[in-house]
Amino acid sequence: MILRIDRWLTELPPPSDPDPEGARIVQELMGGKFGEMSTFLNYTFQSFNFRDRQKARPFFDLISNIAAEEFGHIELVAATINSMLTDDASIADSVDPANSPLLGMAGLAANPHHFVNGGKGALPQDSRGLPWTGDNVFSSGDLLSDLTHNYFLETGARSGKLRVYEAVDHPAARALTGYLLVRGGVHQVAYARAVENLTGADLTKLFPGPRVPSMSIKESVPYIERGDHRRLYRFSPDDYRELAAVFNGDHPETGEPLEVVDEDPTLRPLPVDLPSQNDVFAPGYSTEEITEIVDQLRKKAGFPDEPIGDVTPVPRPKRGRSRSTASMAGTRGATKKAAKGATSTKRGASMPTKAALKPPAAAQSKASTKQAGPKVTTKGTPANAKAQASATKAAATKKAKAGAAATKRTTAANPGSKPAPKAAPKATTKAKPAKSATAKRSRKT
Ligand code: MN
Ligand code: MN
Repeated sequence: MILRIDRWLTELPPPSDPDPEGARIVQELMGGKFGEMSTFLNYTFQSFNFRDRQKARPFFDLISNIAAEEFGHIELVAATINSMLTDDASIADSVDPANSPLLGMAGLAANPHHFVNGGKGALPQDSRGLPWTGDNVFSSGDLLSDLTHNYFLETGARSGKLRVYEAVDHPAARALTGYLLVRGGVHQVAYARAVENLTGADLTKLFPGPRVPSMSIKESVPYIERGDHRRLYRFSPDDYRELAAVFNGDHPETGEPLEVVDEDPTLRPLPVDLPSQNDVFAPGYSTEEITEIVDQLRKKAGFPDEPIGDVTPVPRPKRGRSRSTASMAGTRGATKKAAKGATSTKRGASMPTKAALKPPAAAQSKASTKQAGPKVTTKGTPANAKAQASATKAAATKKAKAGAAATKRTTAANPGSKPAPKAAPKATTKAKPAKSATAKRSRKT
């Protein structure tokens, strides 16, 4: 079984300008043959089907543990797609379908399912919009075949990530691929070491993977600098300990020692709270009504006024800056074709990716402390709340020690640390004038 922790494996930038065309391409990393659903379910089925596991414990532990990490990768790809589909102009509390807020869709090289079926959400599809299929799973029952296949799968997956990085300049997509390139590299090494420990054959010499220049990808560099390229994290409270018997030795490229790390998963970043998108009626035709009903339900259940779960709040929309999907079809699409270089420079400048990548220690601890304070303690699990608060504190201390870089990243990440958007109705009312202005603009284009 899997225990779920409501955290992200790494920080992603909050929603910025929407990029539905890029989101379609990022879908390849979700539901493509070499996407995260494939890695996740290949290793999952191989672990389910593993025979005589007690006699081959370290290999079983390795495959099972990497499967668990891949679930977290799927979550990150979904978060990226959702972020790229989020449009400030659609956070109004009501929309008039007669204004055709999705009119621009027809002209976009986007996936219509993101809007028509999916409510601006990630789907289990590839970049062509074809559904992921179980045919992508190779689980032969032969340990050596499976391990060799997995090395090949990770190699193809890294290749795909690099191409998506090259094809999409949205800051969320860049942050995602920068992170996944590093983790995919670790998994390549893990399966190569597994085969080598079993047979003596070094796959990295037999089939050298694509020369993905991780250090030349600026979004990957922070992860390499902190050692993520040579670490496997253990994703279980107490199991899969024997993977260290296989994941050992030196990194084939850098010569540094490989290591297995146990960490407190609650130190990972909080998920970003996605705002409503009312042109696609997400989360509902009447978001305010849902909020009212939930308030009553929570009250009846005896919960405190503030929700118990934690999220990273999203910065509120800035008036006049955002464009609706419809207007974007005419403007951003054209801009992209006309001045691609300029667009990517602007994006890069508006989102300091290195900073956005790393957990904003201060911001996060502030949010957690605020929310884990009196109200969480009232929920009747003081032990958990205390543990989390102290863990967050420990993380903050640890990160503070990381030096100047930490300070820089905290400052840059602070825009995201505004109060939680708990007053959704209020905020949406404020956004209303901006929305109707945008809608009018859209009609013109
Ligand atoms: Mn992965
Ligand atoms: Mn992997």
